[in-house]
Amino acid sequence: MQGVVEKVYEQVVARNRGEAEFHQAVREVLESLEPVIAKHPHYADNALLERIVEPERQIIFRVPWVDDAGAVHVNRGFRVEFNSALGPYKGGLRFHPSVNVGIIKFLGFEQIFKNALTAQGIGGGKGGSDFDPHGRSDAEVMRFCQSFMTELSRHIGPSTDVPAGDIGVGGREVGYMFGQYKRLRNSYDAGVLTGKGLAWGGSLVRTEATGYGTVLFAQSMLATKGEALEGKKVAVSGSGNVAIYAIEKAQQLGATPITFSDSSGYVVDEAGVDLDLLKQIKEVERGRVKDYVERRPGARLVAEGRPWDVPVDVALPCATQNELDGDAAATLVRNGCTVVSEGANMPSTPEAVEAFQAAGVLYAPGKASNAGGVATSALEMEQNAGRTRWDFKTADAKLTGIMADIHDSCVAAAEEYGRPGDYVLGANAAGFTRVADVMIAHGIV
Ligand code: NDP
Repeated sequence: MQGVVEKVYEQVVARNRGEAEFHQAVREVLESLEPVIAKHPHYADNALLERIVEPERQIIFRVPWVDDAGAVHVNRGFRVEFNSALGPYKGGLRFHPSVNVGIIKFLGFEQIFKNALTAQGIGGGKGGSDFDPHGRSDAEVMRFCQSFMTELSRHIGPSTDVPAGDIGVGGREVGYMFGQYKRLRNSYDAGVLTGKGLAWGGSLVRTEATGYGTVLFAQSMLATKGEALEGKKVAVSGSGNVAIYAIEKAQQLGATPITFSDSSGYVVDEAGVDLDLLKQIKEVERGRVKDYVERRPGARLVAEGRPWDVPVDVALPCATQNELDGDAAATLVRNGCTVVSEGANMPSTPEAVEAFQAAGVLYAPGKASNAGGVATSALEMEQNAGRTRWDFKTADAKLTGIMADIHDSCVAAAEEYGRPGDYVLGANAAGFTRVADVMIAHGIV
């Protein structure tokens, strides 16, 4: 990095000490912006870059709750409202013990550009807590969600800030939070949260959207080379919402996903993942990946570790940040992997991204390839505002169209700035210029 972007990066590091993931996310975007600023220097005027890396508002709060045995716990809640140039802050809530302000800031920062890529008028934000839902009863999760929402409700609203799910936050948690919000506000503001149940304002396809979109993006990348997913072997990491529906869409398109994982290890099922069994274990029983191998002859469990040693054509990291490092990337490349589409946010380390790009792998950063989730959340907001509900086919067609548009915007921006096929540059440049143009129009705010 050099010049103005380097100065901005140094300021971010100095001002946000110890927030390694946030630094990493900012660095990746700023590096991509060098050719953009060189061609359009006005984007660096009026401290626009300094403003875009500083959240508009950061809220940190205490979340006290009582467990089933009567013991009191105190967690920390976060909501980072990063940028509202394009619309209300939009981004998920993550409940995981690793959550801290740096993690939420990295996710909120990524969300600005992701949301801009969807072209749906949504700003960027993110939130969550260091609460760990694993092993907690439904009643404990409910009491936690109610306490969390009691504070969060002061800061959000259908035209202000619209949270959704992320790691550890699915339909159950969104339900408890919506119930508490409605009770506190005495108002049925369906559009205040997305990822709702279908009976109370949710959208068809929202559950599937992130995983489906990730695979659709991989298909679009392959199409630029005259290829398709059909017949390809796929490694997926994670076994949550994104991983499950990435597996489903890959199967629909004729590919064979053979791995999935959780924090206890990964499973290899060379015959192809039995998706009904996986859904039963993860969505119904809230079980662990070892439960799958116990019921599926031929599948094997590799405790610890991640599935990147398994030879495949396509890798879909769908678990968490920095889960795929430089060594894993080198192994994937050596084993013949030519496509990587990120379902998770920032799952590849900078060294991994470099290895993929050096080897000519079709590599899509999460802010482009996993944008289908937030895009469908925006479709949910649209249906809530219109008090209407679309059928599956309509919502699915919209998602497919949005993912194709995001792919084409990335391709066009990469070409415009002289690096055809570079989806990192393409996503960052296309997302940034959309937000920056509106920030300029709004003046110094
Ligand atoms: P879920 O909570 O449904 O699933 C997360 C999965 O990843 C679980 O299998 C979990 O295993 C595993 N995992 C989480 N943290 C770790 C870790 N530190 N080490 C190893 N495994 C881990 O979350 P989602 O599927 O919703 O989210 C997955 C990724 O996709 C995240 O990066 C999220 O930010 C991103 N994303 C999600 C969107 C959505 O719509 N849900 C939208 C866009 C991006 P375990 O249960 O053992 O913890």
